[in-house]
Amino acid sequence: MIIVLKPGCKKKTVEEIMKKIEELGFKAHAIFGVERTVIGAVGDDRDKHMLEALEANPCVDKLVPILQPYKLASREIKREPTVVKVDGALFGGEYFGVIAGPCSVETERQIVETAIKVKKAGARMLRGGAFKPRTSPYAFQGLEEEGLKLLVKARKESGLPFVTEITNPEDVELVGDYADVLQIGARNVQNFSLLRRVGKFGKPIVLKRGMSTTIQEFLMSAEYVLSEGCREVILCERGIRTFENATRNTLDISAVPVIHERSHLPIILDPSHATGARNYVPPLCFAAMACGADGIMVEVHPDPQKALCDGPQSLGIDGFVHVMKRLRELSKFSGKKL
Ligand code: PEP
Ligand code: MN
Repeated sequence: MIIVLKPGCKKKTVEEIMKKIEELGFKAHAIFGVERTVIGAVGDDRDKHMLEALEANPCVDKLVPILQPYKLASREIKREPTVVKVDGALFGGEYFGVIAGPCSVETERQIVETAIKVKKAGARMLRGGAFKPRTSPYAFQGLEEEGLKLLVKARKESGLPFVTEITNPEDVELVGDYADVLQIGARNVQNFSLLRRVGKFGKPIVLKRGMSTTIQEFLMSAEYVLSEGCREVILCERGIRTFENATRNTLDISAVPVIHERSHLPIILDPSHATGARNYVPPLCFAAMACGADGIMVEVHPDPQKALCDGPQSLGIDGFVHVMKRLRELSKFSGKKL
């Protein structure tokens, strides 16, 4: 249920109403919008009639039921787009954030060099996996904590914040203490205990769509994170599995306008995992800018032929420089700021 407050309602009153909501057995989430303050009361739908008592409060304008199964993620509760800001990286609204870096952290030289070069080309955030969820148990699994330390070094040398994947609920504190943003990968999009733990931890999240999750399921996963108090969730469409096998997955670009219609959360595209092939990555980065996506995540490696993971889909530095140059040109027409 959305409790819409009258304009000019004092902070103390908002707090009192939130307390009352909690007493009725719901979780209260205040959303301070430009025009109005609303409180989302989230809990067991069967008890929602109990909230009707709030209508008697003179500061309450009206009660509006939220029709979608996801509540805090929905546009119904927040009309303005959410802008997630991590240092100089902004995603959402008029901002187009660029995340670049290797699939996995391999060596100090590899990650530091990549960080410095992608920063120079215009990236706002570094990516790099330290815990890799590989399809084969025999494939390179990542450098784990050592990889996190190298990412910290790369952040220091380049000034870029970094996002890195977390695969296990027990590692949230470990990874969360090093990283600026935590990534939930496609394979863990419905790992609900992991979603709850990262939601409680409080750092911003990049939540990747699963290869076979519907948009509704994807938004329900975001709801898990939001319901634990985290406000900064960046959704990432990274390709879904279809009958087509010319590409690794099929990039569902239509997810961008659909999600923008249904949710206030930013949505970025990952053309690297979507296509699995370097040559197809640049056109889809441009498509992201053209279709109103809130950013991209791309794999970039200083020597893709030697990459331990996902080399065929990784851009070299020159390829990334070219993508950024074109994106800057396109941003003049798209209304998105890079
Ligand atoms: C990744 O971004 O490193 C990754 C493993 O991607 P996905 O979860 O989309 O497969
Ligand atoms: Mn990868």
